[in-house]
Amino acid sequence: MRKLLIATRNKGKQREIDSLLSPLGIKTLSLNDIPPIPDIKEDGLSFIDNAIKKAQETSKLTGYICLADDSGLVVDALNGRPGIYSARFAGNNATDEANNQKLLDLMEGIEEKNRTARFVCAIAISHHNGKMVYVEGVCEGKIDTRMRGDRGFGYDPLFVPDGFEQSFAQLSNRDKQLISHRGKALEKAVPLIQGFIMGEYDD
Ligand code: IMP
Repeated sequence: MRKLLIATRNKGKQREIDSLLSPLGIKTLSLNDIPPIPDIKEDGLSFIDNAIKKAQETSKLTGYICLADDSGLVVDALNGRPGIYSARFAGNNATDEANNQKLLDLMEGIEEKNRTARFVCAIAISHHNGKMVYVEGVCEGKIDTRMRGDRGFGYDPLFVPDGFEQSFAQLSNRDKQLISHRGKALEKAVPLIQGFIMGEYDD
């Protein structure tokens, strides 16, 4: 059975993607498991652009079937920021804590009805022969006024999905997957991934 390379070094993302694919018998690797490849510049103007670029370049460099996830948080009161800059909101190599603190500071004084936000996840899957597909998932919610919970990663302690009292960081991995942007994108991606693994996209 061929393996799927997840084009990330983010352990939180890798864990979430792998936990959904491994029960389906899809074996994954991440960039932490293969010899180093050059960093791919995320210079696209949208989540989809960045996911496509990461998937295509990584599959060409490695020969693997690659899945790339580009995702982030879109906050209405901040005109869509941090958006595609979510990972480096508080600066290059910023920690999750620094990004969350910056978000809290910028949202100070904003009333609840104006704290709407959404997580977006674009997933692209690419074969080194150039064949490529992509999907997107969205999860609507609100930005909390304080951080709660210690699960998940990134902005999870500040994001309260619609219909829930708890933040993403207070939900189990399984419950987050059922409603999250990544869970929804992966649900659409699974049949496509299975096609790639089974050789449907080979020349
Ligand atoms: P990327 O690696 O360029 O896609 O950056 C994604 C960034 O968006 C992460 O570093 C997090 O800050 C944020 N992010 C994406 N998905 C999630 C999530 O499920 N929970 C919390 N933060 C997320």
